[in-house]
Formats: sequence, C-alpha cells, structure tokens
Amino acid sequence: MLKNNQAIYCQRCGTICHEIQDGELKRSACPGCGYIYYMNPYPCVSVLIAGDDGKVLLGRRGTDSIYPLKWCLPCGYIEYNETYVEASIRETKEETGIKVEPIGIINVVSNHFADGVNSIVTVILAKPVETEIKAGDDMIEIGWFDVNAELPDLAFKADAYIINKYKKSFNNKLKMNCLDLLGNRFQ
Ligand SMILES: [Zn+2]
Repeated sequence: MLKNNQAIYCQRCGTICHEIQDGELKRSACPGCGYIYYMNPYPCVSVLIAGDDGKVLLGRRGTDSIYPLKWCLPCGYIEYNETYVEASIRETKEETGIKVEPIGIINVVSNHFADGVNSIVTVILAKPVETEIKAGDDMIEIGWFDVNAELPDLAFKADAYIINKYKKSFNNKLKMNCLDLLGNRFQ
C-alpha cells in the first residue's frame, strides 16, 4: 500500500514501514526486513498521430482518470514485457481503435502531477494505418483536431507543447525532427 507514493506496509514481509532520511531524500524503509522503497517515475508512452491534413487524434479522459473529461494524446504505461514501440501501438489501439505505424521519437518529457504521480513519457510520432476510430479503455470520446483551430481543453501541458511543435512543422511543411525508433530488445 502506498501513501503519497511511500510504502505503508512492506510488500515483502508486511511490516509497517517507517521513513528514513537518505541524503536529501526521504524514503520508506521496512524495519522488519530492511527493504528500502526507491520511488521512481512511471515509464509511459504518448502518441501524436498525425493525419495528412494537419489533424491530430485526441482522446477525452474518463471520469475515473486523473484530469477527468479533459483531452490528451493517446498514452499509457509501458508493460514489463514490451518495448516502448510496442506500448505505443497497443495503447493507441486500446484507446482509439486504430492501428498506427510509429515513425520516430519526438521528445521525452517528465511529468510531476499534483496527485503525486510522476511519469517519464517517450512521445512517439505515428501515422494512422486504419481510419475507423472508436473510444476505448479509459477514453470516452475520440476525435481528430485541426492543429490550426482551437484545441479542446488539454489535460497535460506536455501534450500542448508537443502539439504546438507539430503545428510549427506542419505549417512550415517540414518533417518533424525525430529520433529513430529502436524497437528491438537489447540484451
Ligand atoms: Zn519488510
């Protein structure tokens, strides 16, 4: 169990954890077995799906999610057994109903949300290879939005930054400057 991202009960032995000072950081530690809980940002992906006409695909977040009813790029956590490229394809399919072809990495952003959830997000540029959109997973609505028109109320400032970057590239008829995708599993 976690409170403010600190473990209350040890996940190994069930003892109630206490707070220790580790340099400048406070961490949760178990007096029973000595385990120390290192809290790290969650690894996530988000996907900017670029249509040919300057439109991007956004989803409206469900009432159970953080920033409910606001809009965002398709996004989610990377599962343990998948690469970030696979995660981008899976999350997009789950949330928007369409298959995408990832093209490159636009940027990597760190989020520090008010509810204590921190994430590090690899932002992927992708193109749609299917057309029929359908809201799924924790999205209640999906839509294409023209980057030169007014956008709906966005949940994440990072998304606004990324969409604006895409808008500049599109309006200047430039390809987005992206890093190569490394979809393989290094061992
Ligand atoms: Zn323990």
